Amino acid sequence: MKAGKTGKIFVFSAPSGAGKTTILDHLRVTVPNLVYSISATTRRPRAGEIDGRHYFFLSVEEFKGRIEAGDFAEWAVVHNNYYGTPRSFIDQVIQSGRHIVMDIDVFGKKQFDKVYPDAIGVLILPPGMEELEKRLRNRSSDDEETISIRLKNAVTEIEFARSQGKYEYTIVNDDLERAKRETEELIRSLTVA
Ligand code: ADP
Ligand code: 5GP
Repeated sequence: MKAGKTGKIFVFSAPSGAGKTTILDHLRVTVPNLVYSISATTRRPRAGEIDGRHYFFLSVEEFKGRIEAGDFAEWAVVHNNYYGTPRSFIDQVIQSGRHIVMDIDVFGKKQFDKVYPDAIGVLILPPGMEELEKRLRNRSSDDEETISIRLKNAVTEIEFARSQGKYEYTIVNDDLERAKRETEELIRSLTVA
């Protein structure tokens, strides 16, 4: 990386259950030197999730205070919980010339584009709705009501991403190994010094 060059921002979006976390976990291991943004959320931690590592888990009051303070580059209510992207961390990372990977829902990404118009969008899609439902059930991390909210929202999210989203790349996660490889190769090709 040349001195003084700003790092790139990669924004990954996907309907819940499409496999984004699994694919990003692969990217963490196979493509070093990427920095991962940690979002804030008011949703409860899932088993194994650690505060400050997977998310900053906040109360609704704390989250609203952070909105008031202008701390977020974007925020949105997703599946009935607040999610937001802390801004100062992104600026620090890209100004130091490192690349940052973000995980933002399709509506939040639209807001994010106003602040960071050069961010590169990567949309991860499931091969179909039946498969998406199967994956959400197999994951066993959410109750029935949550699964049904996420499935209903998936239809709206995919439609919104296709009609109004700015996604330079789309990865269909049918075969997981292929989707992992495709993502890895994409990010490698875009981050060669
Ligand atoms: P997201 O982060 O997009 O909500 P996850 O990465 O948690 O999705 O994946 C949802 C579930 O689907 C997980 O149980 C995961 O192991 C599984 N999964 C991911 N990709 C595939 C795939 N290509 N085929 C089958 N199951 C998959
Ligand atoms: P989950 O609860 O499954 O971790 O994430 C649910 C949804 O919230 C996903 O679509 C994910 O992209 C989105 N999300 C995670 N972090 C942020 C964020 O900082 N801002 C916005 N707008 N959405 C986020």
